[in-house]
Amino acid sequence: MKPDANISGEWIESLIRDFIAASPYNTMQNETGEPAWDFALVGFASGADPIWQQYKEYVGPFHWTPWEVFSQHCPGKPVLAEQLTVISWVLPQREVVRQANRRARTYPSEAWARIRVYGEEFNAALRRHVVRSLKEMGHAAVAPMLVPNWTIVKSERFSYASSWSERHVAHAAGLGTFGLCDGLITAKGKAMRVGSVVARISIEPTRRPYNDHRAYCLFFANGTCGKCIDRCPVRAITEAGHDKEKCRLHLARSREHVKKTYKFEGYGCGLCQVGVPCEAGIPVKAAREALEQGKFPPPPPPLA
Ligand code: SF4
Ligand code: SF4
Repeated sequence: MKPDANISGEWIESLIRDFIAASPYNTMQNETGEPAWDFALVGFASGADPIWQQYKEYVGPFHWTPWEVFSQHCPGKPVLAEQLTVISWVLPQREVVRQANRRARTYPSEAWARIRVYGEEFNAALRRHVVRSLKEMGHAAVAPMLVPNWTIVKSERFSYASSWSERHVAHAAGLGTFGLCDGLITAKGKAMRVGSVVARISIEPTRRPYNDHRAYCLFFANGTCGKCIDRCPVRAITEAGHDKEKCRLHLARSREHVKKTYKFEGYGCGLCQVGVPCEAGIPVKAAREALEQGKFPPPPPPLA
């Protein structure tokens, strides 16, 4: 498939960053009307990347490939996997939001809870904006998180998982690797939210600057850190990993706190995402320097 002269990686990045700069949805809905976000990292993956099949084995057969979700929701001319590009973005939490949550000990700060609700509403608006903009240029596109059959599935391995994991998509698009707490550590750290769109466009995939899906976490890189273990108020993180069920129950309890204390319907936690070495950058020096210097390791082996 020939590259579309009108659509490039730079064009998509501008589309996303311009929306962050100008959209009225980009708000924390607080008294000062502060924006929820001020920046995005953007990456691309091919619909034919073998990693999508690896996810079926690693996450579960219910995890869609880009081709599966696109074919379900963009019927029409048959499409080949290699004709699809997955656009993935990371919205790093602003310093002021991270700072507020660093002080939290049990439940999230007001700023963090606002981002969890209103920041994510913006993220959904951004997904719709990217899809609409591509369609206006004649390119079919879908935001997998917004389709009605996106679902959460019980998983033996992960307790529960979903039919489209934004974090796994961002990993595939070269944007980060997983930490002990399950969060994705990106060049702007782990305190962030992610989004994606699958489109019938051809964009050069972003090279993954890692050959290990845990390369950016100090615990896996050299056996140190483990700071996220102590940040979790309910001990949902141990050296064995992240207990999703304990985490989910704490998030559910946070609803009452948010309503009573901050006077809006919201929830959140994210205590393990701040006050830790991976909060706002890659803490593994060699990996950070390799990325800064544009050095790429050999292609990654299949996920274990
Ligand atoms: S706090 Fe440390 S152990 Fe936890 S994810 Fe970050 S780097 Fe890894
Ligand atoms: S693991 Fe869950 S409950 Fe624990 S700090 Fe992180 S988000 Fe909160």
